[in-house]
This record gives sequence, structure tokens and C-alpha cells, in this order.
Amino acid sequence: MKHNKYSMLAVMLVVCIFSTGRCYGQENTEKTPEVKNIIFMIGDGMGLAHVAATTIYRNYEPLHLERAQYIGLAKTYSSNNRVTDSAASGTALATGVKTYNGAVGVDTAKHAVRTILEKAEDNGKATGMVVTYSVTNATPATFIAHVESRKMEEEIAEYYLKTDIDVFMGGGTQFFKERSDKRDLADELEAKGYQIVYTLDDILSFSGNRLGALLAPNAMPKMSEGRGDYLPLATDKALEILKNNSQKGFFLMVEGSMIDGGGHKNDAVMVIDETIDFDKAVGVAFDFADKNPGTLVVVTADHETGGLSLPSGKPDFTLPDQGIKYAFSTGGHTGIFVPIYAYGAGAENFSRILENTDIPKIMEQLADIK
Ligand SMILES: [Zn+2]
Repeated sequence: MKHNKYSMLAVMLVVCIFSTGRCYGQENTEKTPEVKNIIFMIGDGMGLAHVAATTIYRNYEPLHLERAQYIGLAKTYSSNNRVTDSAASGTALATGVKTYNGAVGVDTAKHAVRTILEKAEDNGKATGMVVTYSVTNATPATFIAHVESRKMEEEIAEYYLKTDIDVFMGGGTQFFKERSDKRDLADELEAKGYQIVYTLDDILSFSGNRLGALLAPNAMPKMSEGRGDYLPLATDKALEILKNNSQKGFFLMVEGSMIDGGGHKNDAVMVIDETIDFDKAVGVAFDFADKNPGTLVVVTADHETGGLSLPSGKPDFTLPDQGIKYAFSTGGHTGIFVPIYAYGAGAENFSRILENTDIPKIMEQLADIK
């Protein structure tokens, strides 16, 4: 049979249209997402001056943060204030929605907004959080809870039972075990299949897949009070557990919670100690991304705290031996842009000036989280 060349072309065209779209060099739209694992790291109150102060203190020995491949800036204002608190900015970073200061996972109308952690869970990913303050404090709360005020920490603790988060570590025993309603949420979590532990040793020897670690009544000790390498070690352990828990990857939030406290106290030593500790955890995350292609690490701050600057002239603080000068302009937060450091798969998407609300939206898009 003699083929008509025009009918052959028509058949080829139809085959192309109904096939997977690979004809004539077209992109296959069904390709797997570039990003499988997301590690989202928040230095609470960590402005650029905090990072600069830390590098100066180390005599310019590079921080792990300096390994970042792409750098951006984030605008942190909330819906009702040029200067955000950790709840509104946490909600922005967790949900992509600007809200009022004090709000936890709710919009300006106080309606719950799904968080990137909840969406990741719904998409079959493993999820976790590692912090140095209570797991019910504003930043972690905004990833898991939906309440109108950050002060509702007993209600926030109950949300750990309402989700399927795989791993959470930090302080907060009092909100789980010494509650006004006499419930013991640690017991209830164990009944749900979690192992709840109270020491770093128990975290490090854990070998299951659902772990809650409550290492202090509320905040964990400061670095100066002997917290040691909890944050980098717990981050490493969380990554090990999450990697094993799902073929579809994971979402992990890590917070260096106490950089903020150093800013509030105008305590430059605390700012530097806590930033160095957070940076060690950043190193753990970057190393994981090196060994596990498809991992995106985004490091940012929820806001700057203390209005820290490093002027010449009369110092507010002079560290012993160092002669470094620090000046704080406030005991509160400020509205200055904060740095974004990105590493690994998809990192190039963060090399811009972004609204803080853009950050979770870009991460979700890259990892195909819906
Ligand atoms: Zn603060």
C-alpha cells in the first residue's frame, strides 16, 4: 500500500499530541519535581548585623552560611505593623499569608490557613521540627497550629496530636504534661505511636520513626547555660529519621530560637553564641544536601531583633580581648530586610528581594507540594 506523505505527517502529529509530550524536543510535563526534600531554617531575630558580628568575632573565619550558593533578602512586615512579631512572620513563612502580630496559622479574619508542613504531610512527605525554645512557641506553632494568639500554648500543644508530624524536638514539657485541663499529652502521643523522650541521649539512641523530644519545661537552656551541641545533633538525627520515613521526601523546619533573645536583651555575647550554634546546624543541613541530591536548604530570619549595628566609636559592648563594638537601637524587633541563604536543588530561585510570604510559595512550587 502506498502511503500518502501528508496522511503520515497527520498521524505523527496526532501521536505527538496524545503522547507524553516528548515530540520535537518538548519538555515532558510529567517530570518529577526537582526538589524532594526541604530543610527550612529560621534564625529567630537573625539580621545581617548579627551574622556580621559573628564573623567578626571569629576573626572572619567563614561561617557555614557563607557556603550558601544564592543570597536574597526578605521583607518581614506584618499585615498590621511595619515591625512584625515571630507569630505573624512565622505564619507568613509557614502559609504564604501576611497576618496580624500574634496570629498563629490564621489569616487576618482569624481563619485557619494550611501550612507548608501540613501540605507536605498531605502530599505523603515526612515532616519534622527542631527548635531551641518550646515547640509551642510562636515560630514552630505557626507551622502546625491555628489559634488567634501565640499566648495559647496549651491549645498549640494539642495540635501535635492533630497532625502526623514525624519528629519534633525542643522544650515545652509544661504545655504537654502540666496543663490546666490535667491531660497528659505526652501519654496521648505515645498512645498514638510516638516515643516521647526527655534527654539528648535518648534522642541520639532513638531508632524508631515517630519521635517527640521535650527537653525543658519551656525554653531550653541558652548556649551559655550549657545547651551544648543539641541543635546540630538533633538536626542530624531528625534528617536521619525523616529520610527513612518516606520515599516521597520530607519537610523539616529548624529554628535557632534564641538569637532573638540576645537581641531583646541587647546581649551581643548571646547573639553571637546562639548564631554560631545555629550556623553549626546550617552546616549539618548543607552537608545533607551535598549527599542527597534533590534537597533544598533555605535559611532566613523571621525579623531582626535589637536594631544591632557595628559602629566605630564608643561601644555599647566590648567583648573581652576582642575590642568589637556593638550598638543596639531597641529592645524590640525592627523592620529591616533580613537575609535569605539558599543551598542545593532550586536554590537559584531565592536570589531576589522577596516578600517573606513568597518563600513558602516558591518551596511548594519547586517540590510540587499542593
Ligand atoms: Zn522576639
